[in-house]
Amino acid sequence: MRTAVVVGGGIGGLSAAVGLIRTGWEVTVLERAPVFRPVGAGLIHRAALHDILLGALPGGTVRTGSRVTAVTADGDVTHDGPDGPVHLHADLVVAADGIHSPVRRALWPRIAAPIHVGVRAWRGVTPVWEGDLAVAISWGRGAEFGIVPLVDGRVSWFAAVNAPPSDRKTPVPQWFHRWHDPIPALIAATGTVLCDDLACLDEPLPTYVRGRVALLGDAAHAMTPNLGQGANQALEDAVVLSAVAGDAQGLADYDVSRRPRSQQVGRASRLIGRLGQQLDNPVAVAARDVLMRLTPPRLALRSMARFADWRPPALSSRE
Ligand SMILES: Cc1cc2nc3c(=O)[nH]c(=O)nc-3n(C[C@H](O)[C@H](O)[C@H](O)COP(=O)(O)OP(=O)(O)OC[C@H]3O[C@@H](n4cnc5c(N)ncnc54)[C@H](O)[C@@H]3O)c2cc1C
Repeated sequence: MRTAVVVGGGIGGLSAAVGLIRTGWEVTVLERAPVFRPVGAGLIHRAALHDILLGALPGGTVRTGSRVTAVTADGDVTHDGPDGPVHLHADLVVAADGIHSPVRRALWPRIAAPIHVGVRAWRGVTPVWEGDLAVAISWGRGAEFGIVPLVDGRVSWFAAVNAPPSDRKTPVPQWFHRWHDPIPALIAATGTVLCDDLACLDEPLPTYVRGRVALLGDAAHAMTPNLGQGANQALEDAVVLSAVAGDAQGLADYDVSRRPRSQQVGRASRLIGRLGQQLDNPVAVAARDVLMRLTPPRLALRSMARFADWRPPALSSRE
């Protein structure tokens, strides 16, 4: 049986593991965290999706507390174990180890590190919300607030402002509490709020594949969240990789299929951030607001929806 090691147990790594197992691979997922914590905010709730993916894997597939310390293009993987380093060899290594991917740093040494985009973001999920809410984004000067109702009645929200990166987590700025309803109430109703400085891979990678190693998810194309596509692109990567990895030209096909689309979505996401939330100049902000008022809602929606328009390839399932 063909073997695969997946580095990283986030949405990208777990979805790749599910797909590869369903197409006949023997898979081991190595995750450095000792335990999975139910963190995250929107998509659907991230933690719910993570749980669904974990539940779809046979017991023993995921080894937590297993930090990968070395990967070679030939498929050799070393990770920390309770009794010292553990060495594995696999036909395929999927590097789904996130935006700061140690595997990318080791095997793509010339690629620049991710950059901060000058934006600080807060994310939260309310308890079940009374009353109807629609998906909405409100813009101010160098600031935005987004509302995304979840299927279970809770509401995911995010706030973002222009700000230099800092090691200190900060609360949502007070002035958001004076924005229009229901923004103050959503913030007030939320327990845990996540705070991040947004970063992305500014330099597109020339390839997602080196030897037996394929980069996937944020490790390959970490993007700003303005299109809400980061995890979606990781899921698309996983579907394509699972469909083609068993073929002779599989990894080359994966690269050709996934790189142009994911990098295009990443560029578009960055641009939307610059022309939307990040605009700070009062004249530019006024022009943006007039343009938005003149744009029919259906047209605005269609221009965003085209990034979600994607057809998966057929999986050659063994089931
Ligand atoms: C503010 C914000 C809002 C967002 N909103 C959305 C949204 O609305 N929609 C959307 O689709 N996406 C959104 N995203 C993006 C989304 O969260 C990411 O794109 C997605 O989680 C990436 O998944 P991943 O599996 O590639 O990486 P990660 O989730 O980062 O997982 C990487 C895993 O690798 C592990 N790891 C790292 N190094 C090692 C190692 N050496 N050994 C073993 N394990 C290792 C880590 O512990 C981690 O578990 C948002 C992101 C941010 C910051």
